[in-house]
Amino acid sequence: MTYDLPKIRGTYRKNAELKTWFDVGGPAEIMFRPADVNDLQDFLKNRPRDISLNIIGAGSNVIISDEGVKGVTVRLPGTFAKISHDILPGGEFIRAGAAALCGNVALYSRNSALAGLEFFSGVPGSVGGAIAMNAGCYGSDISQNLISATALDFEGNFHEIKNSEFHFFYRGSELAKKFIFVEGLFKLTKSTVEEVTKKISELSQQRENAQPIRTKTGGSTFKNPPEKRAWELIDEAGCRGKIIGDAQISEKHCNFMINRGKARARDLIDLGNEVKKLVKEKSGVDLEWEIKILK
Ligand SMILES: Cc1cc2nc3c(=O)[nH]c(=O)nc-3n(C[C@H](O)[C@H](O)[C@H](O)COP(=O)(O)OP(=O)(O)OC[C@H]3O[C@@H](n4cnc5c(N)ncnc54)[C@H](O)[C@@H]3O)c2cc1C
Repeated sequence: MTYDLPKIRGTYRKNAELKTWFDVGGPAEIMFRPADVNDLQDFLKNRPRDISLNIIGAGSNVIISDEGVKGVTVRLPGTFAKISHDILPGGEFIRAGAAALCGNVALYSRNSALAGLEFFSGVPGSVGGAIAMNAGCYGSDISQNLISATALDFEGNFHEIKNSEFHFFYRGSELAKKFIFVEGLFKLTKSTVEEVTKKISELSQQRENAQPIRTKTGGSTFKNPPEKRAWELIDEAGCRGKIIGDAQISEKHCNFMINRGKARARDLIDLGNEVKKLVKEKSGVDLEWEIKILK
């Protein structure tokens, strides 16, 4: 399909490979990498209104369909990855661009002797993806530290969104699909480099012991339902190690799916749906996908 796309200062690429953690799926029909936030705004204001629009961060929580993603996929480049330490009247803050990796924000906070975002060290996504997903682990999540986010709506209008306006819930918020987040402001507390380093090491050890983090994966496949943790329900339904094609339920942590090498997106989606069905039959619980499927 040909689209009448507006002139931009960044780049458009046709049939662009979409690198994601799962390492499956087809290309983006068009990938747009804006030069800066004004370029992104101009694109959103002037784009054809009937074009399908997606945003992808570090690709650590998505399955890209085998056919690829239709329309324009926005991927924010390094100009959106700035991190700074702001000392403001209300205390100590970290300001981070949406393309900054959560791990880099954790290291920056550690070097600034600030506590509160240690859990970011193990989340392989970007700040934008983490805000969209209300990312979290080990009792912490974004909603506990985020003061506000700067965002553009799909018409190109700027918004400064306060934490309370997000109506965050477990692994999401009511606003997630309505905006492209470009920056987050986080409140942290003064600590010492040693203390923050210690906490990061403890969390990293816990994760290393429990999760298949060195494989092609997308993190937790399903949200934890109120009844029980998703991995327990999956285990009880006999799905640990289950294989479809080259996709497998991890033996190490059965809420993680892994691509053993040559899996297609279809294998992962079929495997997830099969697990959902078997869990429903065994326990009556309807698991909800945490991983997003882009097409
Ligand atoms: C090994 C491993 C471990 C993980 N551990 C955790 C964990 O402990 N806790 C946890 O919460 N998650 C975890 N995840 C999942 C993932 O890292 C998080 O969900 C992360 O926040 C996703 O960020 P991303 O940039 O990769 O987003 P993507 O996967 O690229 O996208 C996820 C969603 O966010 C949207 N999005 C991305 N950027 C933006 C933006 N700028 N504006 C608006 N929407 C946007 C996308 O459209 C999509 O709907 C893990 C994943 C892996 C592979």
